Amino acid sequence: MNSTHTKYDVIITGGGLAGLTLALQLKQGHPDLRLLVLERRKGEAPIAAHKVGESTVELGSYYLREVLGLKAYLEEFELPKHGLRFFFKSNTKEDITSRVELGPRKWLPTPSHQVDRGTLENHLIQLIQSLGVEFLADAAVRDVEFGKDYHTLTFTQNKEEQKWQCRWIADATSRFSFLKRKLGFQKSMDHAVNAVWWRLKGVIDIDQWSEDEGWKHYLTSGLRYLSTVHFLDKGYWVWVIPLGTKNTSIGIVADPDIHPFETFDTYEKSLNWLKTNEPLLYEKLSAESENKLDFKILKHFAHDSARAYDGTDRWGVTGEAGAFLDPFYSPGTDLISISNTLLSDLILRDLKGEDVQLRAEIYEQTYLSLVKAWIPIYQNKYQLMGSSQIMVIKIMWDWAIYWAIPCLLFTNKGFTDLRVLQKLFSSKDSVGQKFGRLHEQMQKLFLDWLPLEKQVFSNRYIDPFDLELMRDFQLTIEEQFGDSLTDKVTKNLAILEKLAAEIFRHVSSEVHHTSPDLKVNPYTMDLNASEENPTEEDTFIAEREAAITKDVDTMWFYPKKEMA
Ligand SMILES: Cc1cc2nc3c(=O)[nH]c(=O)nc-3n(C[C@H](O)[C@H](O)[C@H](O)COP(=O)(O)OP(=O)(O)OC[C@H]3O[C@@H](n4cnc5c(N)ncnc54)[C@H](O)[C@@H]3O)c2cc1C
Repeated sequence: MNSTHTKYDVIITGGGLAGLTLALQLKQGHPDLRLLVLERRKGEAPIAAHKVGESTVELGSYYLREVLGLKAYLEEFELPKHGLRFFFKSNTKEDITSRVELGPRKWLPTPSHQVDRGTLENHLIQLIQSLGVEFLADAAVRDVEFGKDYHTLTFTQNKEEQKWQCRWIADATSRFSFLKRKLGFQKSMDHAVNAVWWRLKGVIDIDQWSEDEGWKHYLTSGLRYLSTVHFLDKGYWVWVIPLGTKNTSIGIVADPDIHPFETFDTYEKSLNWLKTNEPLLYEKLSAESENKLDFKILKHFAHDSARAYDGTDRWGVTGEAGAFLDPFYSPGTDLISISNTLLSDLILRDLKGEDVQLRAEIYEQTYLSLVKAWIPIYQNKYQLMGSSQIMVIKIMWDWAIYWAIPCLLFTNKGFTDLRVLQKLFSSKDSVGQKFGRLHEQMQKLFLDWLPLEKQVFSNRYIDPFDLELMRDFQLTIEEQFGDSLTDKVTKNLAILEKLAAEIFRHVSSEVHHTSPDLKVNPYTMDLNASEENPTEEDTFIAEREAAITKDVDTMWFYPKKEMA
């Protein structure tokens, strides 16, 4: 067996994206660490591996590029990504130019990538091995016995059982969820959507789908191709992702209450389903049928976790071995980035002799609260996907909060700073807790608005960077705020409060004909309250700000109403 130790500081079970990046982060933090990665797969990952997780967004890209130092690799070997792009419901889906389109027009200031998972994982394996990490393929973890100083891990390699020791065990076996099952902390997620996905050999370039010059020139040629494209309508979205190996990834994700899984759970059924729901995409894909590389189904893939890290028994989970919600905004790599950062910090501190028990509890709470806070973004929201006006505003809101708080905290190392965590999350009125409540109010507003919003819009192009506040949030994602980080987050919350209130004013004015300068408390606003002004008596009223009103006007499709 190709190994130098049978006793390790850390054994990582599962050598996918989460396990390999954790290994790299640990080794970069402590070059002498004795570290072993056990991976069940035999040999290298195939290039163009059939693994979801191809599209990265800002937080995860920052982690790969800046924290792990993979910038040069990503720029040379993977595709740059031109943001997320959305095409909404239209009555003439055969004509792509008729669909409301939301996506950036110019190159984004904060980079992200479309990654080919096979290429990336093989690069990571070579990189960690060059740093002295041992990587064993064809090695499947079976059991662990927790010990006071060292745990004993059982795995099989080439059908032969081995027992090796480690101080820490980090589980990255994805849905095999070795530690979750061993310790019984599985937790279901009340979000039951299903997915299928496949890859095609060759390029699907959406820019070529119309000869309309106006449509083509909304943005520089080639940028639509580099986006993660979403086609949406009630109950579903379909992704088209370009890959560096010149293949294309296609996926359908749908709510079973609206699109039963039996209607698209085979390749043939998926094509038929597309014929009904996305006829233009069907036309392009059915012509490429002989280029299909693979096809996979994932039923009820969302799952939660009741635990994450234990500083006393020295274990942790990362990647899909922890929680996973929904791929709509490509957040998988973000969760990996946050959990790897928390877990590697605990391990490195412990190995330096620090007592990490309390820190582990705080980190676990942080991770689990973050997952909990993200659930309302997706839960019951597939019913909104047929409404372009609601979805444009929801997507802008979801982006705004993501850039303004979690991205900023991550790039500024706030998740591992106990003073920051305490200041932001400890009391009921702390910024973090208020942010959670504000966000829930907004997600409720989108649902309350649905029965009142019937119009199908078309022929519009919305660029998130036409909104001043979105530009500002994006541009400051990587800025370093040092000791004033919590002040910056507090300021961002104040902007979000005003944004929430202004969105409410627009909606209420449209559906209930209330005054466009209604006084609104964003923490108690309620579209169902009545047609009178329900918030007039409230103590906290979010001030109106002209720049924010202008931003909401930019994404508002109905005729603008003037202030009283
Ligand atoms: C439909 C869908 C679409 C998604 N799209 C995106 C996206 O666009 N962007 C994004 O960032 N995320 C996306 N995700 C999330 C994505 O899956 C994760 O970001 C990422 O792949 C998880 O990495 P991982 O390392 O946890 O899992 P994996 O990459 O699956 O790695 C787990 C590894 O553990 C190994 N293993 C399993 N059992 C054992 C065992 N007993 N012993 C040893 N090894 C074992 C496996 O062989 C595998 O290599 C998507 C998820 C879904 C469900």
